[in-house]
Amino acid sequence: MAPTPRRSLRHLDAPLDTSNVRPPDGDPSFSAMEGVVLVTGGGSGIGRATALRVARDGGIAAVIDRDADNAHATVAAIEEVGGRAAAYACDVADDAQVKEIVARAQRELGRVGGVVTAAGIFHGPDLQLAHKVTVDDFVHVLRVNLVGTFAVLCHALPSLMEGGGSIVTIASTAAIRGHGYGSGYTASKGGVEALTRLLAVQYGSHGVRANCVCPGGVDTPMTAGVFATPEAQERARTRVPLGRYAQPEEIADVVAFLLSDDARYLTGQTVPVEGGATIA
Ligand code: NAD
Repeated sequence: MAPTPRRSLRHLDAPLDTSNVRPPDGDPSFSAMEGVVLVTGGGSGIGRATALRVARDGGIAAVIDRDADNAHATVAAIEEVGGRAAAYACDVADDAQVKEIVARAQRELGRVGGVVTAAGIFHGPDLQLAHKVTVDDFVHVLRVNLVGTFAVLCHALPSLMEGGGSIVTIASTAAIRGHGYGSGYTASKGGVEALTRLLAVQYGSHGVRANCVCPGGVDTPMTAGVFATPEAQERARTRVPLGRYAQPEEIADVVAFLLSDDARYLTGQTVPVEGGATIA
């Protein structure tokens, strides 16, 4: 029997055909920090610190979180210092809700020029040896961390393309090194990182940049104080070149840079913000 001819994979090396892609609509000096920025997970931790930073720099933060009370608390904190923001209760794992909320934020606040996807979960049953994690638990984490990120970005992209935009996804150092726990979490964050690169390639010629921030240990409600204990601080002194774990504002500062015009020639990159932990 004649052998089955092997399918050529050469097309995978071919340069991307961009002949039908419009030239950039975006103003090259566009700064997302001056317009409306959607911040998912804006009710807590890194998302809240980012929303506060956006507002401090003159932008309008659309604070999206499934926890409505926390989203409103972020908005109150922003308004207290004279900034502009609005709260939107939304489960990013629910595409219909995401579609509606992104449209509403645009109607109420104006064109979206920036998106930061910080909504994410750790899920107890996922934090054990992989063969003990059920497929349901694995998929549950992917639905929030990866599918939720995808949904928000997809619904926001038409607006980003209208006049230029900047996407900053929040993955984790779990995307770039084996942490030893959380198969769903790790897979979801690896997916977010790869998706960000794809978007950078697909939408660069539409004036949209996309970069991925990978935090290391950050002291937030998600990590429930584990990075604040004396043992953890001692561990950080030996394992993290900068000798400590991060505060959420230190991640938000890098996100702000990536959203801003200072990063206008930076796209498709993964930026670990981990005190050097991944290179030690
Ligand atoms: P956090 O728990 O303080 O904040 C996460 C926010 O996301 C919460 O307000 C939560 O309500 C919201 N959220 C969760 N699921 C949602 C959903 N389905 N729809 C809408 N909102 C939802 O956590 P954090 O530490 O600030 O984490 C922010 C991001 O940073 C996450 O994606 C996390 O994976 C990532 N990260 C955190 C650390 C860390 O050490 N804290 C390290 C690496 C990456």
